[in-house]
Amino acid sequence: MIPLVDLNAQYKSLALEVDDAVMRVLRSGRFVLGPEVEAFESEFAAYCGADFGIGVDSGTSALHLALRAAGVGPGDEVITVPFTFIATVSAIAYTGATPVLVDIDPISLTMDVDQFEAAITPRTRAVLPVHLYGHPADMRPILEIAERHGLVVIEDAAQAHGAEYGGRRAGSLGHIACFSFYPSKNLGAFGDGGALTTSDPVYARRLRGLRNWAAEQPYCHETLAFNNRLDEIQAAVLRVKLRRLDTWNALRRGHAAHYLRLLSDAGVGLPAGREGVADVFHIFAIRVQRRAALQARLSERGISTGVHYPVPVHLQPAFRNLGYERGSFPISECAANEVLSLPMYPELEPAAIRRIAESVKEEVVAWAVA
Ligand SMILES: *Cc1c(COP(=O)(O)O)cnc(C)c1O
Repeated sequence: MIPLVDLNAQYKSLALEVDDAVMRVLRSGRFVLGPEVEAFESEFAAYCGADFGIGVDSGTSALHLALRAAGVGPGDEVITVPFTFIATVSAIAYTGATPVLVDIDPISLTMDVDQFEAAITPRTRAVLPVHLYGHPADMRPILEIAERHGLVVIEDAAQAHGAEYGGRRAGSLGHIACFSFYPSKNLGAFGDGGALTTSDPVYARRLRGLRNWAAEQPYCHETLAFNNRLDEIQAAVLRVKLRRLDTWNALRRGHAAHYLRLLSDAGVGLPAGREGVADVFHIFAIRVQRRAALQARLSERGISTGVHYPVPVHLQPAFRNLGYERGSFPISECAANEVLSLPMYPELEPAAIRRIAESVKEEVVAWAVA
């Protein structure tokens, strides 16, 4: 069976270094917020091209705290997209603000910039574009529109560690950026983890407070805050892995190019690149109308696939209260019905890619003939 992602293959390639890093923490007696976290924060911020890094316990926490640091609360509106992982929209709801959704662009599957601008009201406080699948949202116009309306721009970069837009990395494009280190992400911990990056010292200071009870002095708490700390073991592991991230992303790009060559005449929709953008292919998704059938046939052939995501957020029962209906966001709904994620991870073998592409082609051609 070819898996969708293979975390064991990655561990094998770094076992000695990672085991060492974990043992170093076990022997240190420091387990939550300490020298490993601090070192990782500055290394990760430097990698992203931002001045400050703030480690937290998940990508979801990063999103929640970013919104809080930006002053988002009840009565405010935050604009984002429905074609994303549910955490993006949940984080807005946690603050008491109203998530305002706008559809995606049919090619990039990221925020439709015109719809973003049209959705701005006097209550809009922030915009939360998602770099879906490792493909950066169209940040230049988003920043320009946000600037005109005085909005805070928060990147959901949970799938985009190392992605570039206009020569700059995700994490340095908006005012605050949010990353997840869930194990299967391009940069993954051995458990949960997340981080924020920003070049604004005021946001950085607020975020450090928010993740750890806002205690400027021990047991003196300035504001309502949270326990969203990153632990030393995850930070030590992430430091080892960060040194490999560019190599891994380059391998992913190579695999994507290989898929694109082999599937160019397969009769399926393929991800499109964009000028000035370096994708990191967290997910490689093709588009097919008979997705369930193709997924079943590939599974019979020993190929695992996934769907990211089958139900757009506005149609999730959890967000019924937002009042959107089927048909509200046709581009997102169409994508949700058609996308199919093929195996993608740095250690994926060229022979496996050939087998996957051949299988996709044979199945799709068989339908065309039938
Ligand atoms: C993974 C992910 C998150 C949430 O990250 P966690 O670390 O799982 O909390 C948020 N947004 C997007 C787009 C994601 O892919």
